[in-house]
Amino acid sequence: MEVDLTQFTYAAHAARVIFGRGCLSSLPAEVEALGARRAIVLCTPMQRAEGERIVDLLGPFGAGLHDGAQMHVPIESAREARAVAARLGADCAVAIGGGSTIGLGKAIALESALPIIAVPTTYAGSEMTPIYGMTENGLKTTGKDSRVLPRTVLYDPDLADSLPLPLSFVSGMNAIAHAAEGLYARDGNPVMSLMAEEGIRAMASGLKGLADPAGMKNARTQCLYGAWLCGTVLGHVGMALHHKLCHTLGGSFNLPHAETHTIILPHALAYNACAAPDALARIGRAIDTEDAPRGLYDLAGALGAPMALRDLGMKEGDLERACHIALSNPYWNPRPLEAEALQALLRRAWEGAPPERD
Ligand code: NAD
Repeated sequence: MEVDLTQFTYAAHAARVIFGRGCLSSLPAEVEALGARRAIVLCTPMQRAEGERIVDLLGPFGAGLHDGAQMHVPIESAREARAVAARLGADCAVAIGGGSTIGLGKAIALESALPIIAVPTTYAGSEMTPIYGMTENGLKTTGKDSRVLPRTVLYDPDLADSLPLPLSFVSGMNAIAHAAEGLYARDGNPVMSLMAEEGIRAMASGLKGLADPAGMKNARTQCLYGAWLCGTVLGHVGMALHHKLCHTLGGSFNLPHAETHTIILPHALAYNACAAPDALARIGRAIDTEDAPRGLYDLAGALGAPMALRDLGMKEGDLERACHIALSNPYWNPRPLEAEALQALLRRAWEGAPPERD
């Protein structure tokens, strides 16, 4: 397969990445390397024990713990975290957790430019992107700002090992979605495509490996490596139909983030297959199949992940409105948005039927 070298721009984001089991122990040195002295540690209430462990590890560099991270970063939680950071005199934030906790760190950084050290414990990839999101009056808005890109990321598989399997499966499919759409991004480039293909390969092989207790540790490490690569792709190139549909479904119908990504991905790729044959071939190569959409649908099925939007609580009567919202805000996609085909896509995803190219 020939790489398209017609024309591209490649601008790498400056983030320092430290990877490996036990690398969390370098956290105090990493705080110091940023020139910081007082780190506020952020987590969800569920991960308070990990947050406390990190405050202990930081010793004199630990300013305090704030366990107020919530899904989709409600504006009130952002305001509260900013106030706590100011009260503690924090000069950096350590966010331990998934996209919600790292998102809270970003909400603080957006106003104060506080440097963030991220310690990801899911595969969502927010730690590698300058994208932030916040929710006000039920409406989630997103934006891009270089101040919110974490300065340092510690990928320590020992911390991500605790992610429950059902959450690991959907989080991994969420990561694969970033890389898959990165392969047909309008502003893509050969380096991001290399990362995307390798990210999908590592994540898919890691997810399959999680089923075998003997190979679990190695599989977890593969997943976190895949999450890094897929998150890097999300941070560098634009997304298309799949991410827009998931944003619509999550925001307007309150469907859970990673599960929605898992269900929509095979269908969105089947929709785009005729317009992005090279991307589909690379995804297929990464997961060792001729038919990438079907391969990802079968992978999700084999993992026991949710397969149908109706199982997430979406009502049949909402399908038309979802299609209308998805069409009402035009965006670039390799294949133009066609109402009838989109309706069919959403219906198949709602029923949990296999993806179909048309
Ligand atoms: P999450 O951060 O909401 O975490 C889900 C739950 O799992 C939380 O209760 C968390 O405490 C718990 N958890 C996380 N890691 C754990 C572990 N190792 N062991 C046990 N429990 C653990 O989930 P997510 O999927 O990582 O993030 C979703 C959010 O991130 C969404 O709001 C999404 O929009 C956002 N996101 C943003 C970006 C970006 O670039 N800005 C990228 C991806 C996702």
